[in-house]
Amino acid sequence: MQMPAFSLFRCARRAALACACLSATLALAQAPVTVVHCDKLFDSIAGTMLGPTTVTIAGDKFDKVEPGTQSPAGATVIDLPGATCLPGLIDDHVHLDMQFGKNTYAEAAHLNFANMVLHSTLYARRTLLAGFTTVRNVGDHDYDTVALRDEIAAGTVIGPRIFTAGPAISTTGGHADWTNGLSLGLQGDPGPLQSIFNGPDEARKVVRLHYKNGADLIKAMPSGGVMDLGTNGSGPQMSQDEIDALVSTAHDYGMKVAVHAHGAEAIRRSVLAGVDSVEHGTFMDDQDIQLMVQHHTFYCPTVYTGQFVAEQAKKGAYPPTVAAKALAIGPQILNTVSRAYKGGVKFAYGTDAGVYPHGQNWEDFIYLVKAGLPPAYTLQMATINAAQLLGHDDQLGSVTPGKFADLVAVPGNPLDDISVMSQVSFVMKAGVVYKRDGKEVLQPE
Ligand SMILES: [Zn+2]
Repeated sequence: MQMPAFSLFRCARRAALACACLSATLALAQAPVTVVHCDKLFDSIAGTMLGPTTVTIAGDKFDKVEPGTQSPAGATVIDLPGATCLPGLIDDHVHLDMQFGKNTYAEAAHLNFANMVLHSTLYARRTLLAGFTTVRNVGDHDYDTVALRDEIAAGTVIGPRIFTAGPAISTTGGHADWTNGLSLGLQGDPGPLQSIFNGPDEARKVVRLHYKNGADLIKAMPSGGVMDLGTNGSGPQMSQDEIDALVSTAHDYGMKVAVHAHGAEAIRRSVLAGVDSVEHGTFMDDQDIQLMVQHHTFYCPTVYTGQFVAEQAKKGAYPPTVAAKALAIGPQILNTVSRAYKGGVKFAYGTDAGVYPHGQNWEDFIYLVKAGLPPAYTLQMATINAAQLLGHDDQLGSVTPGKFADLVAVPGNPLDDISVMSQVSFVMKAGVVYKRDGKEVLQPE
């Protein structure tokens, strides 16, 4: 009797699955095993510090986490005496293809795109060596961080695991309209292909273009901002129907939405539209705080950047329009952080590195503690909370068997002195060691 086609297919599929399971089991059995002896380990889920712990890594995943010092036969042993181990750090707000300097505004006209891309490889490496094994890139040029993400994943470039929004999305003249400040002859009329939209239909189109071009999430600019050459740094720049269309379309495609928002009204519209995180959030009022708690909206405060841009403005580093906004907006974030934390908003670690030099992503830890947050909470922000905001806490954000073996170490105890987060001495990403004894490993294995 002839077997019906569908059951042939089923048998073939079952055999293939069994084969895949078997080869996965064999691969695991043969994967090189490394054990790391940590003097202390930060438990990011409980928010507590554990004593001496042995972390076993098989291939690219954590395999076991056991108290004390174990050294199984045949395993490669890495001793980290006096060090505190933490899950690989996650920064949910970076811009890897730029770094603001005194020539930035002129470079927009003179620098070739290829130069920006090459710079991004250096910034990515610095970020990884600072202990940030995963980042969320929230705004780039022409999807160059989609390529950077893929090259890092393929092993041709060294850097953190990237989840990218591609170019940030705004309305005409908005914070991400790169033709702001250009002469009329140079402006053209940027539209959805350049990530600029007007009206709900174009909002849907711009999100779909991002999906098509490989973005993992959406970054939108519903309020004015500091670093562009427009004059209004905090007013709303998207109507409610525009942001509703943008968010609902992104969610249809399984993409989360991060919004840059300084002013209270822009924050309110965004939270009501169902965004996943508010970035900066400088002038959030009590109603915004309540809405964010109700809607489980994450807050990425970028607190150090606020201080940094105000200091730079005083030194004359920016054009007058930008300097005025930097002085009025930047320093306010410290106070907002404190109010939002007391109000019960959930935080994820996001720095805006790129506005300040890459590799100094640890600075936010210092300022978050200054704003009154407990050191353990700031470490949770940069691990489990940041992974939850990415939607990948099943694979990232804690030292748990089965998750990616992303592990970093600092000297001493960050719960006693948060400044040790500036001295990451050991970095492992997916089981590969990139930094040891405070020095880059030149041929990572
Ligand atoms: Zn940013």
